[in-house]
Amino acid sequence: MRFLFTMLTIPKSYSVLGLPVHIMTNYIDWLLDGIKQGRGTHVVTLNAEMTIQAEKNQALAAVIKNAELVIPDGSGVVLYLRYLLRQKVRRLPGIELAEKLLEATAEQAKPATIFFYGGSPEIAEKAAQIWRKQIPNLNIIGTHSGYHSLQQEQQLLQHLAEIKPQLIFVALGVPKQELWIAKNRHLCPHSTWVGVGGSFDIWSGRKTRAPRWLANNNLEWLYRLYQDPWRWRRMLALPEFAYKSLIYRFGYNTLRNCKY
Ligand code: UDP
Repeated sequence: MRFLFTMLTIPKSYSVLGLPVHIMTNYIDWLLDGIKQGRGTHVVTLNAEMTIQAEKNQALAAVIKNAELVIPDGSGVVLYLRYLLRQKVRRLPGIELAEKLLEATAEQAKPATIFFYGGSPEIAEKAAQIWRKQIPNLNIIGTHSGYHSLQQEQQLLQHLAEIKPQLIFVALGVPKQELWIAKNRHLCPHSTWVGVGGSFDIWSGRKTRAPRWLANNNLEWLYRLYQDPWRWRRMLALPEFAYKSLIYRFGYNTLRNCKY
């Protein structure tokens, strides 16, 4: 019966510029089930910037292809799925998935053990404190900053291998967090690992998210650029993504008679 359930709930995968994106009606239930079963899951939150990075970084592309769950985090990816692949899909920003997952774990009879890794000193701990205050039932068992020596990292890895948190949020930015998870997930093979980018900065109050009207109009990137002007170079990936999407969909793939 369990086998049948798992088979039925294997996330359906679609190709966006050669990378998988999984579309499900309920990501949280699937992840909660995985946490309970100790399925061992790497969650990637895919956006246009990351897709272009992966074209130039084969290691990143391999990690994304190998991840058990890739969610449509960015507007570019969602527009691709909607208008080029004709799929009904809603955008799910990584930070919102992470928030919903935290809330859902706290509602379980036995809340999952959680670890926050990444961010500048004290940020992960501050984010954890704010969450603990908000949801006392949340079981965050440890935090660690993302800036440290190699020796401190070895200690962190040893610590993770000992305590084996069931849910591990890694906030080192793209592609560092994806590569780090792929390299180290064997230490806690039954855990669910999620790359959460700048989520600790937002939860700790260090930064703010774009107003909803900007996000609803596919303009969250504009707010991020306003907040961090250094991102301009990375954001050149957005028009590149749009251009390549059209070429990939109507040129390259048509020539090769591929489904996507
Ligand atoms: N970071 C870190 N260690 C590093 C590099 C980055 O902990 O060596 C943290 C940084 O402090 C920030 C997060 O990683 O909190 C990256 O956030 P960003 O919003 O830039 O993520 P992305 O846009 O790549 O998803």
